[in-house]
Amino acid sequence: MQHIHDLIGIGFGPSNVALAIALDEKRHGAKPLDALFIERQPSFAWHPHMLLDQAHMQISFLKDLATLRNPTSRFTFVNYLHEKGRLTDFINLKSFFPSRHEFNDYLGWAAGQFEDACRYGEEVFEVLPEKQGGEVSLLRVRSRDAGGRVQERLARNLVVSIGGVPNIPEGFKSLRDDARVFHSSSYLKDMARHPQARRVAIVGAGQSAAEIFMDLQGRPGAPQVDLIMRARSIRPSDDSPFVNEVFNADFTDYMFSRDSDERAALLDEFSQTNYAVADLDLIQQIYKVFYDQKVTRGTRLRMLRQHDVRSVRAASDGVHLTLLDRDVQRESSVRYDAVVLATGYARDQHKDLLLPLAPYLGDYDVDRYYRLKCAPDFHPGIYLQGACEDSHGLSDTLLSVTSVRTGEIGNALLAAAQPRARNAVRDESQAVRV
Ligand SMILES: Cc1cc2nc3c(=O)[nH]c(=O)nc-3n(C[C@H](O)[C@H](O)[C@H](O)COP(=O)(O)OP(=O)(O)OC[C@H]3O[C@@H](n4cnc5c(N)ncnc54)[C@H](O)[C@@H]3O)c2cc1C
Repeated sequence: MQHIHDLIGIGFGPSNVALAIALDEKRHGAKPLDALFIERQPSFAWHPHMLLDQAHMQISFLKDLATLRNPTSRFTFVNYLHEKGRLTDFINLKSFFPSRHEFNDYLGWAAGQFEDACRYGEEVFEVLPEKQGGEVSLLRVRSRDAGGRVQERLARNLVVSIGGVPNIPEGFKSLRDDARVFHSSSYLKDMARHPQARRVAIVGAGQSAAEIFMDLQGRPGAPQVDLIMRARSIRPSDDSPFVNEVFNADFTDYMFSRDSDERAALLDEFSQTNYAVADLDLIQQIYKVFYDQKVTRGTRLRMLRQHDVRSVRAASDGVHLTLLDRDVQRESSVRYDAVVLATGYARDQHKDLLLPLAPYLGDYDVDRYYRLKCAPDFHPGIYLQGACEDSHGLSDTLLSVTSVRTGEIGNALLAAAQPRARNAVRDESQAVRV
């Protein structure tokens, strides 16, 4: 008989690493849940192609994988610093915002303590219903490794934490296979393929666009860089204290208790905390770069505000963008060696993975504990992390409430497992301890 996992987690980014921690800390000596995580990357890495040298966290290190749920956890960022022998040095930095490199190292340090619970290098491509007596009792999770080999595993519960997928503007979709056009999520990898690029366009006006601009403008070889945006200017992200309360864990309850119109209004009202905005200090750095260029009367760097990309054409000499300057209603065509799309992420990829289950999942609504509402004859629990912004608020796609959220999901999973834990006869040799 095929082994049945209590839980399969898809993805092993911060959300599911935090879940592994929460489950570990919540069992209080009881039998562990048999949890397995499946991660498509060959090893742990947090947005590896945006690990830019100057980039730092946009959230306090206290919103790490554990502190807000359990400040005494051994998985806190403070304990990581202690174990690495850098705690006092970090204090001397007088900063709440570690570099992204350091936070990636912290996350990898935490993930490394659950090595046995994660299968790296496998991409889940499908989840199927497994029926017993006409009702769906289990899920069959199908994944593929780099060599094309397909694995199938059974689970009672699923936690889908797969992050976002690159949002590609319509006009660029036909150039998906053109290596000269790529999304910010693969920036460092794909930019490295174009060491000779002399003219580069960045499309977007958010944090990633701003970071990439700073990275490119300072590169050896001094490429010409156009920062192309619809907006009139790059706007600062609002992280002032009263506004920042929308990222408090208890704001999730408030958001969830509202009707759909009010929720949408809240997302809109506070969108400038996260979308199409950048850190103020980064904006100031960019302003200084343009100021210095004015002093030297240079033209290498351009900020093309209020510009729409009207059409895109790939040719042997480069990628040609037709740009409309909306200010003066004038079109121009510009040739680039590379185009970086800093155009954000979509968060509905779970619907593709769960497509075979769609008849049981209605509108993909979740309850307060992130569990998808299912038909009565569908018994497995499916939880979503990072795809519940509409119902749970802006913090859902960020790290803000990750530790608290995984505590809530952990409680729900452990509560559901209790009766079964007493009765189940399981193949312990295959159980993965979490
Ligand atoms: C460059 C960048 C910087 C950021 N900085 C911050 C910040 O400072 N503060 C903050 O709060 N938020 C930040 N964010 C937001 C970010 O979403 C969170 O920090 C965090 O990464 C969310 O964790 P996650 O595990 O939900 O998603 P992800 O980190 O995206 O992890 C998802 C994981 O699932 C894996 N995966 C996806 N599909 C499959 C599949 N089918 N099968 C197997 N594995 C799969 C991916 O490989 C990935 O490892 C940043 C985002 C980006 C892009």
